Amino acid sequence: MKIYRNDSSAVNGANVWHAPKSNSSNIQLNADIVSKHRPDLDPRGAKFRVPSFSSLQDITAGKSIPIDVIKDRVAVLLQRMAVERKLKSNAAIPKLIARIFPAKGGMDEIAFNEILDTRNRSIIYESVLDAQTQVKRGDMPGIKQALDEAAVMSAAAATDEQALKAVFGEHHLRAAEIYQGITQKLMELSSDIAGKITVDYNRDGVEIGEAGSALFARQTIHLMGAVASQGNAAETRFTLIHEAAHLVANNIDDIFYYNTAGYKSLPGEMRIRNAAHFEEIPRKKKEEKDKAERDKKAQGGKKNGPPKPGDRKTVAPETEPAPAPVKVPDVNDDLRTAATVAIKRCWTTALNVFAVMRYIKRQQLEKNNAPFERNKGNLRSYSIELNLTMHEQQPDQMAITNLDLTLMEGIAHAFHLVKTRVYNMEFDKDAGYSEIEMVEKAIVQQLNHQQLLFADGEKNRKVFRWLYDNIYNIPIRIVK
Ligand SMILES: [Zn+2]
Repeated sequence: MKIYRNDSSAVNGANVWHAPKSNSSNIQLNADIVSKHRPDLDPRGAKFRVPSFSSLQDITAGKSIPIDVIKDRVAVLLQRMAVERKLKSNAAIPKLIARIFPAKGGMDEIAFNEILDTRNRSIIYESVLDAQTQVKRGDMPGIKQALDEAAVMSAAAATDEQALKAVFGEHHLRAAEIYQGITQKLMELSSDIAGKITVDYNRDGVEIGEAGSALFARQTIHLMGAVASQGNAAETRFTLIHEAAHLVANNIDDIFYYNTAGYKSLPGEMRIRNAAHFEEIPRKKKEEKDKAERDKKAQGGKKNGPPKPGDRKTVAPETEPAPAPVKVPDVNDDLRTAATVAIKRCWTTALNVFAVMRYIKRQQLEKNNAPFERNKGNLRSYSIELNLTMHEQQPDQMAITNLDLTLMEGIAHAFHLVKTRVYNMEFDKDAGYSEIEMVEKAIVQQLNHQQLLFADGEKNRKVFRWLYDNIYNIPIRIVK
């Protein structure tokens, strides 16, 4: 998706990237935390973040975490942010840490403000309570209109036999039924926005690459703030169609995201179970419509018409869209597909750990401590494996701090970023390596090279391994 833009040189064509649903039998679905669908965002909009000054000051003053651990973890966060050029200072990280945490003790707010743009929410993590909340009043009419228009698009797709056959082959009749179901679900959502849709206004979704999620059991969807406020009108509609597809049948999953490796070669019987394939007809129709309008304008000589919502603002209205890059057949394609799948797997595990932590934290802030008490052992083991702070705290004072939340968010964000590097990966095809070993080496090399996780390469390898191995072991069931 191209909802966010900035001036970095991230890889183009980072399209849609969703997590598979949690499908292990030991995972009990819980509507508050299980995310089923996570479309990709252009990672150029996502940033590594730090807790606010007051939050860090509270953590430091609490004395539950040794000060050296706090400094070490803040250094990790600043290092990741430096990669994205989000610090106001170019000084070396140890120097910045020494300024924020002066030798005399405590913290220096002036230094903190000199290093970080503290008014920017994409840099400062504010509150987990804002991360799943009701649609703001101001966003209501826009969401309603988007849902209604998406329903019209879906209804049109349901009756377009030619397009259905082109995308779904012999399964076109089932696809038509699903499109009818999507239309119905979109109308139901539209008639109960307050009851069925929640929004993330804390930007967690942007940071970790989660634009939306859908929960079949409760027939609800969760949207990223920018989707809710229509950062890109057309993408918002495609996202809504995608989410609604998950609500039609429980077996409609995320096998491959729109136009990612593997998407185009998916057979028809799998396409009717892959939500992203239901974006295809509406996307194609929008492209045709845009082209027809451009042609009409060109004929009429009106070359400078006003841009419409959904137009990329970087493209002048009279300009033809850039041709899609020619895909050169590549002997590494199988390995790249395997790497894509492996990164998605790690990213999903990281998202689930982050979701569990956020959920427990939210419950605590709302005075329900039971999920925390039940999951202390799990939290401690995540902390050890993923280098958070909980295992370093005084055991009787253990808490999920905003430092832990930003560290965990950063890990999810790192895997979100590294997937845009798949096409730059070098695979070391030593005869002795298995496929997963070749993939692991390539991914860890990218993590090291981009400095996205930790300075220590062996630590990065262990984090990769743990996330890869534990995809089905995160106990999503944290309430009864
Ligand atoms: Zn999905």
